[in-house]
Amino acid sequence: MATSSERVIGIDLGTTNSCVAIVENGVPTVIPNRGGYKTTPSMIAVTEAGKRLVGHIAKRQAITNAENTVYAAKRLIGRKWSSPQVRNAVATSSYRIVEGPHQDVRIVLREKEYSVAEISAMVLQEMKVIAEDYLGEPVTKAVITVPAYFNDNQRKATKDAGEIAGLDVIRIINEPTAAALSYGYGRNIEKIVAVYDFGGGTFDISILEIGGNGVFKVIATAGDTFLGGEDVDARIIDWLVQGFREEHNIDLRQDRMALQRLKDAAEKAKCELSSVRETEVNLPFIISSGRNEALHLQRSIDRQTLEELSADLIERTVDICRQTLEDARLDKDEIEEVLLVGGMTRTPKIQMAVQGFFEREPSKGVHPDECVALGAAVQGMALLDQSQQMILLDVTPHALGIMTQGGYFEELIPQNTTVPTHRQKIFTTSRDNQTAVKILVMQGESERADENELLGEFILTGLRRAPKGQVEIEVTFEINADGIVSVRAKDLETAKEQSIDVTASSGLTRDEVQKMVSSAKDQLVERRSTEEFEAAKQEAERLVGEIERLFPQVEQIVASSDFGRDAIEKARAILEKARNAVKRHDLVAVKEQVEGLSRTHRMFRGVVAKKN
Ligand code: AMP
Repeated sequence: MATSSERVIGIDLGTTNSCVAIVENGVPTVIPNRGGYKTTPSMIAVTEAGKRLVGHIAKRQAITNAENTVYAAKRLIGRKWSSPQVRNAVATSSYRIVEGPHQDVRIVLREKEYSVAEISAMVLQEMKVIAEDYLGEPVTKAVITVPAYFNDNQRKATKDAGEIAGLDVIRIINEPTAAALSYGYGRNIEKIVAVYDFGGGTFDISILEIGGNGVFKVIATAGDTFLGGEDVDARIIDWLVQGFREEHNIDLRQDRMALQRLKDAAEKAKCELSSVRETEVNLPFIISSGRNEALHLQRSIDRQTLEELSADLIERTVDICRQTLEDARLDKDEIEEVLLVGGMTRTPKIQMAVQGFFEREPSKGVHPDECVALGAAVQGMALLDQSQQMILLDVTPHALGIMTQGGYFEELIPQNTTVPTHRQKIFTTSRDNQTAVKILVMQGESERADENELLGEFILTGLRRAPKGQVEIEVTFEINADGIVSVRAKDLETAKEQSIDVTASSGLTRDEVQKMVSSAKDQLVERRSTEEFEAAKQEAERLVGEIERLFPQVEQIVASSDFGRDAIEKARAILEKARNAVKRHDLVAVKEQVEGLSRTHRMFRGVVAKKN
């Protein structure tokens, strides 16, 4: 039996609402707030008198204090000022978002700037107090959940928020995984489940294998950290604003208070349309006309309109599900249960889309708003009480790697690798007498380094002066059970670990990264590259030779049939590109061209064989 000082709470820090839970006498339980609600709005405000408000009380005054009320801060956490998502939030939020000193994001409330982690910390602190009021004792240990698709920066910032709130964050776990834990806990089942999690700000899908022996293993995960109920609300707002403009020639977006009222009304209408077919948006005195008369907004909206406005967003979630199944190498019929998580899954159209895709009725076995916090509490208990036989094996949602010469992303840990994990690789210098090297650590799926998320910058100094390629450096990449990344580097000559300066990712703009891509002066070159390049080059040259050999015959066939001129031109272009890539010593380009060459070769062989 755990002592009271070992109590641990599970917190679902949501975009729209947050929820806190605990395991009491073996039973996972959601803790209600003082108002008796099981979830608390993730909103904070500062009043004119300088008082800080959190939760329902902040939400209630949002319309009259729109500029100083923050909602959906989770959409900004761990993001850089230059990211498109932040630009979008700057344009559409009723509170002020400004650039921080490290190209990070700050929120201004009553002239004071707050980091996003500080804002989230206020919500977390409220959840801590809710738990303490209920338990009648202090609580410090917590498991906090994050969207599965959160990258390292977003995870770290969330952990920082926990610390700011005075919490000892013993683990960060993924929301869909937490939902599966809450579903599988105490049930002795063996099943492959898909968790479709559509919340206020993010969408995640995870596929897990629940083993009868208490093992929860994630097979694959994916998502979109900027796709949620907020986007559906935005579509309704656009529709209302547009209608109002057509009628009165006035843009309601100009008025922050009107915008906040529209936001509330849009969300309310959306939720109502989950249970009724038609509802009314009624906002009296929304704005004054040029002649100073009060104007009202009154419009009815039906479910079909909402479905049309949000169809592409729902389709996007289905596309991600399709991709995740492929990544998991599973067929739909191998999924034995589909869990719906997140407030948005109450939408009939979403339930139909999920059912249509997976060809099975989603389970009713979890509560969409509470299961994530419950799962976090279960995980917290298992971490403290080792007698609990429960093992959670999650995966990294993004590939981890570094930028190599030419601005390419060299993957070291692939997406969907089970965490914790670590990989080592040996690198070497790229120019003579290089005494320092720079490594940019990145996370993402793109081949182009600058399209991925920059996590940090390494500078390793004090290397021996030597011709390029002689000094060897061993780099170790590690992802811990929180999904958080750390990197170490060792000079193999001296066998000493070198000191590494890791600059926070938000300290670099995309432009700066771009510049580094083009200069690439002090970067490391991977040892393996030369061999890999040689192999790719040989293959490319072999295929070029084969295609050239077949060219006269194919040209003759084409000339007589006047069919396939395009293919001949394309083949010429591929040959040209392949020769250039080999000349440039560009490994990624050569690899790409090998694919094109193989296709062309197969096609040429087919044409010749058919003729003979
Ligand atoms: P969560 O992040 O899981 O708390 O989900 C919050 C999102 O679910 C918000 O965008 C809510 O507007 C939305 N939501 C809550 N209830 C409903 C409902 N009955 N129908 C449609 N969406 C809902």
